[in-house]
Amino acid sequence: MASSLSSAARINVFWDEGMLKHYTGTGVFDTLTDPGFLQVLEKHPENSDRVKNMVSILKKGPISQYITWCPGRVAGVSELLSFHTQEYIDELIEADKAGGKTFCAGTILNPGSWNACLIAAGTTLSAMKHILDGNGKIAYALVRPPGHHAQPTQADGYCFLNNAGLAVQLALDSGCKKVAVIDIDVHYGNGTAQGFYQSNDVLTISLHMNHGSWGPSHPQNGSVNELGEGKGYGFNLNIPLPNGTGDRGYVYAMNELVVQAVDKFEPDMMVFVIGQDSSSFDPNGRQCLTMEGYREIGRIVHRLADTHSKGLLLIVQEGGYHLTYAAYCLHATLEGALNLPVSLLSDPIAYYPEDEALAIKVVDSIKQYWNDIGLLFQRDCST
Ligand SMILES: [Zn+2]
Repeated sequence: MASSLSSAARINVFWDEGMLKHYTGTGVFDTLTDPGFLQVLEKHPENSDRVKNMVSILKKGPISQYITWCPGRVAGVSELLSFHTQEYIDELIEADKAGGKTFCAGTILNPGSWNACLIAAGTTLSAMKHILDGNGKIAYALVRPPGHHAQPTQADGYCFLNNAGLAVQLALDSGCKKVAVIDIDVHYGNGTAQGFYQSNDVLTISLHMNHGSWGPSHPQNGSVNELGEGKGYGFNLNIPLPNGTGDRGYVYAMNELVVQAVDKFEPDMMVFVIGQDSSSFDPNGRQCLTMEGYREIGRIVHRLADTHSKGLLLIVQEGGYHLTYAAYCLHATLEGALNLPVSLLSDPIAYYPEDEALAIKVVDSIKQYWNDIGLLFQRDCST
């Protein structure tokens, strides 16, 4: 059994329990306020329990036989400067020394948080290095706090350091020529987009709920016309999807928009940024994906990696806030990323009725828009 499995596809999961020490408090959902009239205040949605369940399902669920566990590590401060400004990193270090700071709504650095941030960044870098060094094809950084809203100069949306962005930059610095990032967290991956907004070395694609800007920490709208700047124009693709898009709508968007863009870009490294807050039961999202949708999206990304990056695929954890279902949907996503022919785990709670008609209309209109403005996703050889 062991020998037959060792030749099959495996996922190297990078994890360190030091990331559980980022404490985010309690209150009315993520506001951390107590109105005085509730008996039970809930934990901030981005709490350590969610990740404990993810670790647990990967250790004890049926996918465990395909997983190799790898240690995480603390990132050095100098490593962070490949994505973030010195000024912003200094601000984080000062906040930690001062005992904590609220950076923006729901985004609070407490004692212990900074070290967890450094572990999340270092662990993601280790995962990327693992596949760059040829030690495995698929690596998954199971990290928190999440990172995809963290911009080069500021924190945003529960995120402090952009774990995926740091890994993308490591790949480029290690000789990769073109990196494609596919972000399916329900929120716009504005931080990662911002970091590579003027680059044509990185194709950032984000499928998200149409939530728009949520203030100074998140000035980007995530709309289709935020396409990048300068030579990066056309290398940031936003796919805002209507609430309730569901499995079939997401798969349609992947096949009609994402696959053709990645096929033309021809990346030599793929980064899959995942958040289970696009699930049917997430308190932070309304996109209604079920395990089957995540599984199929994972399969599509697996095929893209097989086609373009010799199967090399870094998967980075972002949001996902339903304690049980986020773990199940993670399990399904990784089953897809492994391209397993049959599902290993059945869905315990999916029931949300789908109506993909609106999603198909939206995807078709984005496709028409890309055609109208002549996006080719190919770099001019002279640039
Ligand atoms: Zn999210």
